[in-house]
Amino acid sequence: MKQQVIKKLKDRGVEIKDMVPILYDLQKPYIPDLTMKECEESILAVLDKREIQHTILTGIALDELAEKGMLEEPLLSILRKDDGLYGIDEILALGMGTLYGTIGSTNFGYLDKVKPGIIKNLDTTPGRVNTFLDDLVCGIVAAAASRMAHHNRDVKEKETN
Ligand code: MG
Repeated sequence: MKQQVIKKLKDRGVEIKDMVPILYDLQKPYIPDLTMKECEESILAVLDKREIQHTILTGIALDELAEKGMLEEPLLSILRKDDGLYGIDEILALGMGTLYGTIGSTNFGYLDKVKPGIIKNLDTTPGRVNTFLDDLVCGIVAAAASRMAHHNRDVKEKETN
């Protein structure tokens, strides 16, 4: 299922290499010797989790149904215009961040507000409904960052013990 999820993201315009630099910029201040490779590994690791895979597939399915006009009103219009008061896109994606502890929600909130790199571009792709997708990317990166923060602490504690 992981490969299907990666392909689905790619079909919708998001590749792993688009998320790596966002994660790098987010974590670099806390992990000075961080590498792009470690960022990529962390993103691939969170994509291994079934809850994350299910969330991504669900969000993208709703975007695609809205794009094809296959949802009923008023939901169709809400998704098509990415109504700021809808909020279910954020709730769904936020769940991914918190799988790795509460630090995930802080990271998610930051990414959702600043919208670095591809996250901003997805918000403004003409003719596409990406109401869920931009939040899903925030959620994936937030989860990867949180995983990395916990992992980094584990390594440090092992070194000192
Ligand atoms: Mg959204």
